[in-house]
Amino acid sequence: MAKLIALLGAGALILGFAQANPPTTEAPATVTVAAATVQASAARKTVALTFDDGPSKYTPQILDILRRNKVKATFCMLGNNAGSYKKTAKRIVREGHRVCNHSRNHADFTTLSTSAARSQVVWTQRKIKKVTGRTPHVFRFPYGSSNSRTRAVVRDEGLRIVGWTVDTRDWSRPGTSTIVSRAVGKTRPGGVILMHDGGGNRSQSVAALDKIFKRLKAKGYTFVLA
Ligand SMILES: [Zn+2]
Repeated sequence: MAKLIALLGAGALILGFAQANPPTTEAPATVTVAAATVQASAARKTVALTFDDGPSKYTPQILDILRRNKVKATFCMLGNNAGSYKKTAKRIVREGHRVCNHSRNHADFTTLSTSAARSQVVWTQRKIKKVTGRTPHVFRFPYGSSNSRTRAVVRDEGLRIVGWTVDTRDWSRPGTSTIVSRAVGKTRPGGVILMHDGGGNRSQSVAALDKIFKRLKAKGYTFVLA
C-alpha cells in the first residue's frame, strides 16, 4: 500500500510538471530524467586538482597548502624532475597524493617515433618508482598533444590517460585573481583542473590555491584524485 501511495505521489508530481510544461506528450518522462540527472550530479559534485611539470622548488609550498586544506591532488611529474627533487617526490607520495607520469622531459609525443615515445613512458615509470616507491597508473601527455599511435603506447604500458576540463593557464602568469576566477568559474561536477607546480616561476599558482579551495568548497565541491 505504501508503495502504491508513493507511486501515486510520484504520478501527481509528474502530472504537476506536465501541466506546467504542456507542449509535448513526452514531458513527464523528460522531467523525470532531468530530476534524476540533477540528483545524481549533486551527489557527485567532485573536482580533481592536477599539477604538471614538477616537482620543483615551488612544490613544497603547494604541499603545505594542500595539507592545511586537507586536499589530495594529482602530480603529473617529469621523470627528470623526479630525479632532481627526490625528497619532494617522496613527500608527494607520503602525504597521500597521486603520482602521474608526464614523460621524461616534456616532449611533444606527436613528433616522436613509437620507440622514442615508449622510452619516454617507460623511463619515467621506472624513475618515479625508484624515487618514490610508487608506480604511476596515470599518464598525461605534455601539451595534451597525442595521436592514436602514442595513445596506444601509453595504454600498452598499462596507463590511463588523464586530460583536463579547466585550463587555468597559470603557466602564463596572468595574475593570481585570474587563476582563481578561471579555476572556480569554469569548474563543473566531475571536472579536472590543470595547474603547474614546475616549469617556471609558480608563485602566482601557489598564491591562488587557498582562495580556490575556499570558493570551490563553498560551492559544495569535494576534491578527488584524477
Ligand atoms: Zn606539462
